[in-house]
Amino acid sequence: MAIDEEFYKNLKPIEKHNDHVVWGPGKIGAAAEDPNVKAAYEKAGKPIEPLGIHGTYVAVDWDDCEGEGSCLSVCPTTVFDWAKNPGNSGQDDRLDYTDKSDPTREADCIFCMACVTACPTQAIKIDEALVEVHNNVKL
Ligand code: SF4
Repeated sequence: MAIDEEFYKNLKPIEKHNDHVVWGPGKIGAAAEDPNVKAAYEKAGKPIEPLGIHGTYVAVDWDDCEGEGSCLSVCPTTVFDWAKNPGNSGQDDRLDYTDKSDPTREADCIFCMACVTACPTQAIKIDEALVEVHNNVKL
């Protein structure tokens, strides 16, 4: 499964988080099939539930994100932090495999597409044209 290329039409903006928009309600995606993610949720005693998409012009589908972390390591402008380990952007700085790549500094994106190429589950969509969508979201 990959990020829905038209998520901004098919989902709704549900909240703002670290200055970016969260689109929901989300889905049961690739993360739910990943052994590391499943084990981490089991250990935490929590079910895997839809989380939605974080960001708009730098959009990460948290339901497909397996916490592999390559997007954090390849980004030249350090757009991403680990959601559960804020301020940390190393590939292996995740809290555990329930953690997700968070586009905390969406505005710093230079649209190089390195993260899109690196992501093993096609969970990221980068689209400069969606800056306007971001700017027009009312929450
Ligand atoms: S497109 Fe490039 S600059 Fe933008 S978030 Fe991805 S890796 Fe970072």
